Amino acid sequence: MQAWSSTVVQYHRLRNDLAVIRLEGDAVPFKAGQSVSVAVPQNSALTRRYSPALPPSLDGKLEFHVRAVPAGWVSGGIVNETRPGDVWQISDPQGGLHVDDSGRDVVMIAGGTGLAPLRAILLDLTRWERPPNVTLFVGGKSPRDLYAGDMLWLMASELPWLTVVPVVDQLHEPWASDRWNDRIRADVDSAAKFFEPEHCWEGSVADVIAAQGHFSDRQILVCGSPGMEAATMRALVESGTPAELIRR
Ligand SMILES: Cc1cc2nc3c(=O)[nH]c(=O)nc-3n(C[C@H](O)[C@H](O)[C@H](O)COP(=O)(O)OP(=O)(O)OC[C@H]3O[C@@H](n4cnc5c(N)ncnc54)[C@H](O)[C@@H]3O)c2cc1C
Repeated sequence: MQAWSSTVVQYHRLRNDLAVIRLEGDAVPFKAGQSVSVAVPQNSALTRRYSPALPPSLDGKLEFHVRAVPAGWVSGGIVNETRPGDVWQISDPQGGLHVDDSGRDVVMIAGGTGLAPLRAILLDLTRWERPPNVTLFVGGKSPRDLYAGDMLWLMASELPWLTVVPVVDQLHEPWASDRWNDRIRADVDSAAKFFEPEHCWEGSVADVIAAQGHFSDRQILVCGSPGMEAATMRALVESGTPAELIRR
């Protein structure tokens, strides 16, 4: 199978369990919304799928959002040990998550790092002459779990066709602090905005979606953990949204 090399140029630790990694290298022929197979030097015998958070660029820029899962073989090494200069092997672009050009409004539903491929699609849509209206529901456990809040505030304020709805399981933060989150909040420009409890809807993404009633004549894109996707699909279909409108 063909593989492409890419070198880590930036590593941003955003949370105890989450990092954003930017790379430059070979131009990988994927489409916004797809995932690729990745092998990293910390555990080069294993591959895992990750979804680029930028659309493809001719100069080979890639960005990944990786969450360390407890006892995971690969994700913990990426989040804790990635360093600029690491070379990743990328292969096998796959997946059909996309927005079509029918002009129909779009509902995007992201859980955790499921935001990454949807963000790539959103950036791709900025190049369209007439992008469709998009409502993005982005879910996390608590407000600080919405790791890309400042970027989403910025996108929603710049793009008139985009509405972002932050959804959290609980409005209050966990008792234990997250030093990476605290550091970011202390360091950033005071104009940057984050999702605070008063901006968020409380509940699981599936419950919040079910409360919207059915979506008809929309394009619906769902991306998150297998459990989140299954619960969201069930909520959509049970509230009357035709299954054929849903892409995941
Ligand atoms: C199409 C696709 C795209 C993906 N894109 C991304 C992405 O952009 N960013 C990202 O961070 N991850 C993404 N993933 C998940 C990623 O591929 C790995 O599964 C994840 O990083 C865990 O790998 P690991 O080797 O650390 O864990 P493993 O060693 O494979 O698993 C260790 C243990 O953790 C459990 N586990 C695995 N995944 C999860 C989870 N998500 N939540 C809770 N428990 C889990 C397993 O059941 C197992 O018990 C994607 C997966 C798929 C299929």
